[in-house]
Amino acid sequence: MRAMRLHAPRRALELEDVAPPVPGPGEILLKVSACGVCRTDLHIADGELEGGRLPIVPGHEIVGTVAARGARAERFSEGERVGVPWLGWTCGSCGHCRAGRENLCDAARFTGFHRDGGYAEYALADERFCFALPPAFGDAEAAPLLCAGLIGYRALAMAGDARRIGIYGFGAAAHIVAQIAAFQGRELYAFTRPGDAAAQNFARKLGCRWAGDSTAPAPEPLDAALLFAPVGALVPLALAATRKGGVVVCAGIHMSDIPSFPYALLWGERSLKSVANLTRRDGEEFMRLAPLARVRTEIRRYPLAGANAALRDLREGALNGAAVLVP
Ligand SMILES: [Zn+2]
Ligand SMILES: [Zn+2]
Repeated sequence: MRAMRLHAPRRALELEDVAPPVPGPGEILLKVSACGVCRTDLHIADGELEGGRLPIVPGHEIVGTVAARGARAERFSEGERVGVPWLGWTCGSCGHCRAGRENLCDAARFTGFHRDGGYAEYALADERFCFALPPAFGDAEAAPLLCAGLIGYRALAMAGDARRIGIYGFGAAAHIVAQIAAFQGRELYAFTRPGDAAAQNFARKLGCRWAGDSTAPAPEPLDAALLFAPVGALVPLALAATRKGGVVVCAGIHMSDIPSFPYALLWGERSLKSVANLTRRDGEEFMRLAPLARVRTEIRRYPLAGANAALRDLREGALNGAAVLVP
């Protein structure tokens, strides 16, 4: 099969011919029909995350059909469409797992980081961590739900019942969470790179009440802010835009250093927290909600061999919505 593999950080992925993997007990082999390109893949390619395996096939927004099943893999039938997210395996026995926080499992294995992912024609997955996908979405359209959508959903849930929500960084995750939040009757304010008129127009089109530069003051005090851009300097700006008692949620897996800021920005019972990974429960809830909210994902398709171009376009902010590889 063809696969795009990363051999060393800060090197381009290489298109290679490798033997298709064989499913072990509890695993399924998927024929990949689409795989989303996530900002986390950029952090992996740039060597910004510790502990991953090399060489690795990146990609953790996998949509595929079951081509083969390992021993005792009975949850899905051959030919059935399933989705594979970032959370690829958890231990089930550590304190976090037992407390319903499997996203924080100390031994978790992540797709496209510890386990080969979906930048390939075939991919393996532990069937317990796969999702059935809403039929209203085509294969490529469903791919961004599996991380951008899920992480956005988890971040939004951390905002509680906040009505006025600021979104910093309007990429793949934000464009989905904006539609969910609008469906829930919340008011959205999109903060983009200064002068990024294309992203601001895109945000207004998706129901944001206001869109402007991240350096601009918020037109109204926010109840919560969700940060999707990996830029630590946005944290003090978001705190300054948030009312007393509000929450600022950092949704990325990696962020540049947060500059020091006056305590007054946090004072007033504001809180600052991060979102890490996902639980299977998040996935099940979100896959029910996305079709109800009539979410439409905006995607740009790339061939498998175009993975490096997709990563470059993501890095340069040249995309509205999400990049998706279609092998
Ligand atoms: Zn665990
Ligand atoms: Zn991701």
